[in-house]
Amino acid sequence: MNVHESEKLYASFAARGTVPAECAEEANVIVLNTCCVREGAETRVIGNLGYVKKLKERNKSLIVAVCGCMTQQADVAEKLHKRCPFVNVITGTYKLSRLPEMTEKAEKEGIFILDLEKDESVPRGANEAMRRTPASAFVNIMYGCNNFCTYCIVPYVKGRERSRNAADIECEVRRLIDEGRREIVLLGQNVNSYNDGDTDFRGLLDRLSSLPGDYWIKFMTSHPKDLSDDVIKIIAERPALAKYIHLPLQSGSDRILALMNRKYDITSYMRKIDLIRELMPEAGLTSDIIIGFPTETEEDYEATENAVRRVGYNNLFTFIYSKRTGTPAAVMDGQVPEPVKKERIARLIDIQAGIANAAAKKCVGKTYRVLCDDSDGGRHTGKTSDDRVIVFDGEARTGEFTDVIVTHAKNSKLYGKVK
Ligand code: SF4
Repeated sequence: MNVHESEKLYASFAARGTVPAECAEEANVIVLNTCCVREGAETRVIGNLGYVKKLKERNKSLIVAVCGCMTQQADVAEKLHKRCPFVNVITGTYKLSRLPEMTEKAEKEGIFILDLEKDESVPRGANEAMRRTPASAFVNIMYGCNNFCTYCIVPYVKGRERSRNAADIECEVRRLIDEGRREIVLLGQNVNSYNDGDTDFRGLLDRLSSLPGDYWIKFMTSHPKDLSDDVIKIIAERPALAKYIHLPLQSGSDRILALMNRKYDITSYMRKIDLIRELMPEAGLTSDIIIGFPTETEEDYEATENAVRRVGYNNLFTFIYSKRTGTPAAVMDGQVPEPVKKERIARLIDIQAGIANAAAKKCVGKTYRVLCDDSDGGRHTGKTSDDRVIVFDGEARTGEFTDVIVTHAKNSKLYGKVK
């Protein structure tokens, strides 16, 4: 999601005549768009600012701005200002489109600007973004989150859920398809709770998948408590909706899910998985798992292992639990020792590798419609509707669909040739 925020930032600078520099050394303005969802963001930003400081020493007129969810936290923004007084502008997540004005003002008036004011209004019209991928395009459908999972900082830094107008989204998607984009990825922290007052997420998928053209639509992220049967059914029915769902499980233990405030249990999660498998046996499923949430026992971990084996995900994004200051889980008793977390995550990665390798073998000999998104010297990379990556040879054009037969698999990686 931050990638798309940066694409929109590029567009707002471009609208005022700014052009991208070839490299940091040639830039007049440097913007660091930060994220604090994963551990270590602050350390990385401070590290990058160390280099930017050297550039500023060489070029006194260089304007430096830091924005995004890390600096939306007032205490972090203050600390950053004290530690890096050469930064000219600090803002958070709400005013990204105003950043070009802020940097101009900081330059003209020689002042430091700190703007963390919340603005939960949703702009009307199509979002302008400088998208760098020829084949696919991200489209925000909503912002913020109401869920307050106990480990997550997002609701505190991105505010409450708010949906964009469905007609605006449709207009933006139509334009992207007309421009030749073959893959539209709808973005939101919890796309299943999309609702602009008239249209819910199923209704939005209905509108978008009825547009003329040759394209597919993917979306992320789904919340298991809000993924409705109606949404699963329309994905199964419509050719323009990719057969792929990222459905973060986080833990296979009901006790841990309750502590995480996820508001579903393993039975209801598996009921959705079963419906997906019944209607779309070939659908690609991926998930996020957090290992070592406070008080996680060996039994809780094993419940996660069992869930992972039962679903058979194409891919799993595994994370070791780490504290986010300001979230309820950060002050929970029963923090799990690091060596235990590391040992458990290693076991889970091993299990998932076995599942993915076996699934990859089953793909050999099958033909897939692949969206080619990169080519290098006659060798291409592309994605299937169920979000598998295939490396293939033959005549293909970046940004176009091609039928590819899978000739072999190396571990979980698929290789093929144009059919
Ligand atoms: S649903 Fe939970 S994990 Fe996802 S952004 Fe919202 S609070 Fe964070």
